[in-house]
Amino acid sequence: MKKLITPIFLLALSLTLTLTSCSNEEISSPIAPNAIMEDTPSINSRPALPQNTVGNIDWKMSGTYVQDFSFRRIKAVTPSECGDTPFDAVTSFYNDALINSFFDLWDFNFDAVDVVLDDYFVINQIAAQVENKNTDTFGAKGEYTNFVQKTVINLESFWDMANLISVRGQHTSTLEDLDFIRYVYETYSDATPAEIDYLLSIAEYYNDYSDQIPENPFYAVDGFATSTGIIVIGDGLVSMLSETGLDPKVVWSGILAHEWSHQIQFQNYGLWTYPTPPFIGTPESTRMTELEADFFTGFYLTHKRGGTYNWKRVEDMLSAFYNIGDCLFQNPGHHGTPDQRLEAARQGYLQATAIKKKGHLPNAQSIHDAFIAALPTIVN
Ligand SMILES: [Zn+2]
Repeated sequence: MKKLITPIFLLALSLTLTLTSCSNEEISSPIAPNAIMEDTPSINSRPALPQNTVGNIDWKMSGTYVQDFSFRRIKAVTPSECGDTPFDAVTSFYNDALINSFFDLWDFNFDAVDVVLDDYFVINQIAAQVENKNTDTFGAKGEYTNFVQKTVINLESFWDMANLISVRGQHTSTLEDLDFIRYVYETYSDATPAEIDYLLSIAEYYNDYSDQIPENPFYAVDGFATSTGIIVIGDGLVSMLSETGLDPKVVWSGILAHEWSHQIQFQNYGLWTYPTPPFIGTPESTRMTELEADFFTGFYLTHKRGGTYNWKRVEDMLSAFYNIGDCLFQNPGHHGTPDQRLEAARQGYLQATAIKKKGHLPNAQSIHDAFIAALPTIVN
């Protein structure tokens, strides 16, 4: 078991849970304690949480992947700098609910921070990506399973990609399964059996006494695509986006279409030409592949054989969708500004409008070519 080595700051801090968008890079924001003390007002009289826990699980996603949404604890300051978007209000609410619930039960044992505010998120990623645990339903009660299955069938047909992509749900309820948590510790950590019993006792305590652990939507907030043909979409991501006033089905199809677009990119990796090499992790490269995914999303969602949405509906969905990325990246230009992303999707929509008159299903290569031609306009 890794040793917990974390600075403990005397200043009372609240921990900000947050979402990141569209990166295949880890984000870390080491902030000097002094800087925090200068910049952050004292929020309450509670003790500090450590900023950089290491957790107990040795596991990282492997291969090429695009992580569009993910839980991250990037800084221990609150409120967020993101401005007052509806999505910020929703995420702040759940952030505070989770942290307050944790503090209410916390007995100053820092191993508890590791378990429920670090390991839990990794466990649910492992559940979705590797162990395929509870992944065949969508929505907390499976209420969107049929809708997602139908959308996947439509995407398969639309892009001529039958049986190539595995779309997987992620649920907070998976973390109620202590046997599964035990299995993950046994398989993905070097904790001894006695240590695992101890970690499980912490998990059981918080699961029993907190109404947010693991029920809080942050525990199922992943949205990513891997080059091994997997797409993961967490219930919490969809539910929090929907709480901004969006139809959950629009959110599901929007995220699905975007992640599917990354799968099309993976499938054509090495075949398609780009002005900048794709998936090399630079801001320009990432922005380009994300804008292309938005272009494909706008194309699919508005195509009469795709999502059949009108542009306004797509625009509404994208507006909320994009608030996430733009707010929370250290470099605002990293993934495209909201304007650029909306323009990418709108250009895709215009492409669909032009093509649908001919009544043909698209050829991905031609859509890629159209995107590359439109890229200078989108960026500028
Ligand atoms: Zn993306």
